Formats: sequence, structure tokens, C-alpha cells
Amino acid sequence: MTAMVLQKVCIQCGLCPTICPEVFYLPDSGGSAQAADGEVPIEHQAAAQEAAESCPVSAIVIQL
Ligand code: SF4
Repeated sequence: MTAMVLQKVCIQCGLCPTICPEVFYLPDSGGSAQAADGEVPIEHQAAAQEAAESCPVSAIVIQL
């Protein structure tokens, strides 16, 4: 599984880093949420999926 955030869609609500901080973060410099590069570790996949489903603007794309 990989995760990415559609930068132009994210409204920086902060929900995804709250649900799954191991994968998603809001940069200190501001701007849209980011997802960690590469494969999401198996132990964080359920939370990453939950974050994607919870994003209010559907900005998180999960690829299995
Ligand atoms: S939940 Fe969605 S809108 Fe909110 S910070 Fe994450 S990607 Fe952006």
C-alpha cells in the first residue's frame, strides 16, 4: 500500500496526521498535508485507510 495527498485538494484540516501520524504530517513550513514516501508499513495500513476515508475532501489516495 502507498498513500499520497492531492496537494491542490487538501484543506489542511489536520485530521489525517491525528488519525495516522506515522504516515501523514503537516509540514512545519505550512501547506498541504504530506504522506510518507514509499510503502506504508503493514501495522499502519488500517489507520492510513481510515484517514483516507475520513478526509473531508477526499484528498488522500491509497493505492493497494
Ligand atoms: S484529512 Fe484531508 S484535508 Fe485534512 S489535512 Fe489530511 S489530506 Fe488534508
